[in-house]
Amino acid sequence: MRHLDAEFGNPGSRTHSLGRAAAEAVDKAREQLSGLIQCAPEELIFTSGATESNNLAIRGLGEANSCSQGHIITSVTEHKSVLDPVHDLFRHGWSATVLPSSHSGRITSAQVEHAIQRDTRLVSIMWANNETGVINDIESISSLCQERGVILHVDAAQAVGKLPVSVAQIPVDMLSISAHKMYGPKGVGALFVRKSVQRQLRPLLHGGGQERGLRSGTVPVHQVVGLGTAADLARTYLKGDGPDRVRALRDLMLQLLVEELGDVQLNGDAEHRLPGNLNVWLPNCDTEALAMRCEEVAFSTGSACNSASLEPSYVIRAMTGSEKRASESARFGIGRDTSEADIRFAVEHISRHARDLRGLASLFE
Ligand SMILES: *Cc1c(COP(=O)(O)O)cnc(C)c1O
Repeated sequence: MRHLDAEFGNPGSRTHSLGRAAAEAVDKAREQLSGLIQCAPEELIFTSGATESNNLAIRGLGEANSCSQGHIITSVTEHKSVLDPVHDLFRHGWSATVLPSSHSGRITSAQVEHAIQRDTRLVSIMWANNETGVINDIESISSLCQERGVILHVDAAQAVGKLPVSVAQIPVDMLSISAHKMYGPKGVGALFVRKSVQRQLRPLLHGGGQERGLRSGTVPVHQVVGLGTAADLARTYLKGDGPDRVRALRDLMLQLLVEELGDVQLNGDAEHRLPGNLNVWLPNCDTEALAMRCEEVAFSTGSACNSASLEPSYVIRAMTGSEKRASESARFGIGRDTSEADIRFAVEHISRHARDLRGLASLFE
């Protein structure tokens, strides 16, 4: 039966060759991903994506300690799949500190240090923000947590594949990964769980005991193979000049937007941000209306993850304290395949529509 698609088998059935072939494909993908973030393959738990990984890290730890609730620290700029599980534990008797954001959007280790209490069990701070691209100082936050004996979970869905991320160099305890944020398939991701922490988690899904008992359910072989391949491609990409090229295009886009529209301001820290993220404030331009008019270019106003709500970005609001600025902000993503011609095309159309909208707005003033 070897002529059948090798990935047809169930990776849980190593007793026949089809199962073995599927298991080998999963093993290979686990090695590819562990090579990217420099962990042991056994420290990776495959999940359905970073949402599930964040839930497993936070609720998994909380539910394992449900008789002795403690304190959790997170920040206001986190993704909802971190904030909502923290809120859930709060409703079940945990206490929580949600750190506020400065104008730069960066959460500092000093903030975390001030918030640590004697019963703090978990700190959950993201590596890079999905809306502003702002990169937190995970290096110093992780050494602080290590020093104070507090478990650190990092949502790295935006960082892995875009920045060098090594859990061998930076002592985080848990790290969430999403395949589709690094050019892999949707619906798959992973949670890195350091060996010393694995027994402190309670699984969210109970059943066949796959993934070291932390995530029951047949491993989706084809999805996981896609994640492994994406990890290998990301490793090659990060070694080359791709990130510098993307950063240069991002800076060019900002420069061209300023030339065309005058009043344009960057949201968040200018230095510590993902190379491909441009999040700007276009004063007096309703960017929700801009996104609707500007059919030539795909960009976002808030976060794609919260697109169920039409609320302006809670991240920009938390950083600036301004509802108006949040509703006048837009996020452009520059990717591996974006060209300079794409940037010039995008700026031309965005500027034209933005000028129209600003003109309309001034009529009503
Ligand atoms: C996209 C994203 C998530 C959710 O990931 P899924 O794989 O889509 O569930 C979580 N956190 C951040 C920072 C993200 O960018």
